[in-house]
Amino acid sequence: MRNRHLLIGNWKMNLGPSQAAAFALKLREGLPKTARTDVWVAPPTVSLAPVCAELAGTSIVVGAQNVHWAASGAFTGETSPVFLADLGIAFSLVGHSERRTLFGESSQQVAQRTQGALAAGLTAVVCIGETEGERSAGRTETVLEEQLSPVLESVSRDAAGRVVLAYEPVWAIGTGKVAALEEIRQAHRCIESLWARKQFTSSPVILYGGSVNPGNFAEILALPEVDGALVGGASIKVDQWLSLIAIAEESPVARG
Ligand code: PEP
Repeated sequence: MRNRHLLIGNWKMNLGPSQAAAFALKLREGLPKTARTDVWVAPPTVSLAPVCAELAGTSIVVGAQNVHWAASGAFTGETSPVFLADLGIAFSLVGHSERRTLFGESSQQVAQRTQGALAAGLTAVVCIGETEGERSAGRTETVLEEQLSPVLESVSRDAAGRVVLAYEPVWAIGTGKVAALEEIRQAHRCIESLWARKQFTSSPVILYGGSVNPGNFAEILALPEVDGALVGGASIKVDQWLSLIAIAEESPVARG
């Protein structure tokens, strides 16, 4: 629960260093002064440095798409949270469904990655969500609990304020299928109750992700359970991304 909307763009494996810098320049030029929206972007790892350079001095926050748990060591191909922090990176996505389904990341590993990110001072944006089969089998809430519990077990009270949760039904990611408003509300309420069990002092921050675009965003953001959105496809189209920011700016921040 935040007093500002949060919009995070996941660029996935799109926009290499030069394209990303050119895209960031367009964002810098087009970004309005935002009164009630925080704008974060997650470029590919190799594009982090040029995007940071291009967005220096703006309010846009830059983050990574994944992070390892160890500070350094024999982990070929992985990225240390300490190295990210050294680069001025503020957050990392963790447990995106593409990491879980395509690269076999378990919820235990997602918990470890979350812990590594938090220990290095980063914010961890932890993604969870059910597949279509799990939803039709009536297992949505069980899956959310299975994915979130190891993460919450590993988060200390002090670090809980640097955890952002993203509810992303796998069947809605990149498919053009958006979860129904009632499905989003129920999933977010389930996540809120899992968070409440831990008795953290901070409230959970919960984003929705899955085929968000300028045509559906206003009604999703108007839900009292939704703090913002994690956006893939529409975040790498300048016009759509700026429209999403404009919609967030027009939407009151009211949590029930
Ligand atoms: C995502 O990659 O997290 C995502 C939500 O993608 P899209 O907006 O394209 O569905």
